[in-house]
Amino acid sequence: MVDNEILTLFDIDGTLVQGARCHYMAFVHAVSKFYGMEEDISGINYAGKTDPQILREVLEIGGIPEKVIEDNFQDCLDYMVQDYLANVHRENVRALYGVNNLLKQLKKENILLGLTTGNLEPIAYAKLGQVGLDGFFSFGGFGSDSPKRPCLVEKALKRARRLHGYKGNQIFIIGDTPRDVEAAKPFNLFTIAVATGMYSTSELKKTGADFVLKNLKDVKQVMKIIGI
Ligand SMILES: [Mg+2]
Repeated sequence: MVDNEILTLFDIDGTLVQGARCHYMAFVHAVSKFYGMEEDISGINYAGKTDPQILREVLEIGGIPEKVIEDNFQDCLDYMVQDYLANVHRENVRALYGVNNLLKQLKKENILLGLTTGNLEPIAYAKLGQVGLDGFFSFGGFGSDSPKRPCLVEKALKRARRLHGYKGNQIFIIGDTPRDVEAAKPFNLFTIAVATGMYSTSELKKTGADFVLKNLKDVKQVMKIIGI
């Protein structure tokens, strides 16, 4: 049970960590195994999309018929998880500078920490585990909950209430893409957009985010934004 009014919901890729070659390779291996697709999928903009959304997009680009996509879709996602967990020790992921410190400070202030990420849930925790950040989080909304980002935000909010008795309304979504900001809008949440992914501060300002930061290095600045 937390007594704090504040809830912070973090995206993973481009926000907490950078680099996830094995995650990309899990897509490549899975679409090859289940759909025989060998096309180059490196040109797709994955930023802010959910794993099931990316998978569908990749398959549609590959011209795989809808019925075939549907028949193997869940098995393909399950295989991606297996493939990722088998290879995660080789993942080239690194925590973004300042993130560890920020999470420690938030925890110290008894602020509830959650995830809102398009990663499938086991991939999310395994990826964070590689950089020692998994222990900060016990719940969230994930790509395994829904292909639609706003739906996984809703799921994270429900879990905060159900699992942690959260009753406040000072809720912050912290993410690196216009999609993170967009997904927060239906719920009227505060948004902090951070330019450590593929979008610049000026691009992120156009999304209407409440706050736009170059990075999360300045812990005091972030704490001030969220009202600590
Ligand atoms: Mg991201």
